[in-house]
Amino acid sequence: MRNPGKAQAGGTILVAGGAGFIGSHLCAALLDAGANVTCIDNMQTALPSNLPRLAGRDRFTFIEADITQPLPDAITADPARWTHIYNLACAASPPLYQADPEHTMLTNVVGTNQLLRLAEQAGARFLLTSTSEVYGDPEVHPQPEDYRGNVSCTGPRACYDEGKRAAETLTFDYARMNRADVRVARIFNTYGPQMRMDDGRVVSNLIVQALEGAKLTIYGSGAQTRSFCYVADTVDALIRLMDSEMVQPLPVNIGNQNEITILELVTAMEAVAGRSLDVTYHDLPQDDPQRRRPDITRARNVLGWEPTTPLAAGLRHTYDWFAGELTATAPLSAQRVA
Ligand code: UDP
Repeated sequence: MRNPGKAQAGGTILVAGGAGFIGSHLCAALLDAGANVTCIDNMQTALPSNLPRLAGRDRFTFIEADITQPLPDAITADPARWTHIYNLACAASPPLYQADPEHTMLTNVVGTNQLLRLAEQAGARFLLTSTSEVYGDPEVHPQPEDYRGNVSCTGPRACYDEGKRAAETLTFDYARMNRADVRVARIFNTYGPQMRMDDGRVVSNLIVQALEGAKLTIYGSGAQTRSFCYVADTVDALIRLMDSEMVQPLPVNIGNQNEITILELVTAMEAVAGRSLDVTYHDLPQDDPQRRRPDITRARNVLGWEPTTPLAAGLRHTYDWFAGELTATAPLSAQRVA
């Protein structure tokens, strides 16, 4: 991973959603580089054990608050100290962001606007983590940033997809009005340690099912595709994007181009588990995108970045981490005594 530029390394950085899956890895990387990091998180979907990993570290502050509410004084007092603001705050797995769709939408609209106002007051650079979901169920493949997407504004995914699209709109409007210096990342499916075991995404579901000897749940036929990016690669790209200089801000796809079907993911999981795994088929959720693969030409050109972690290696790290977590959280009676 490339070290953050000098400004970030010596900076005072606010990470909204910093206790979440990608956010906690980002906070750790920024702390490693020497930054002062404040994390604001409402702990709605964050894995609670991510915080103790960070809380003991120098230069780390945690504030429990929800960005849909007025930002706490601890954040708004002395705004000029913020050099950079990352916005990763939002439930991101389909079951979790659909559990409270109003809150998901408001997190993206009200929350992003509050952080943009703070960036304006602070003169801080602002980075929004948007999503491949802005492309909806894409009709263009792979998806370049100038593809405008095929999103339902009335379906169950709309609270997230349209919420992120509105967050992008706000962010680019602030830039157009010269109110803030902004960057926008469109993150494609990311996986790795420190995901919630119960967040409902395919990688975490399949790993937990494999470890527990349950059948792997395949939604639909399993022929739908995704392109899975290991979290260290995603965090590296976010830090580079924050550092990048752009004449005019443009969204940047961050993801892995290795597109596979969900059934191929099962095969990759079998290689990691070292045995064959039984599957069970369930209905495909409404509006589930059929294909997804990023065009990362812009990330290559602007950030000098592309993912370096092969799926087999990333899955191995993730599987081993989940195995450790399951052992640590299992009741003593269920743990084997050597
Ligand atoms: N999926 C699956 N089994 C699961 C969870 C998800 O087959 O246990 C499918 C889901 O329908 C989708 C893909 O895997 O086609 C990726 O789902 P995920 O929720 O991880 O992310 P998405 O890309 O849909 O936001």
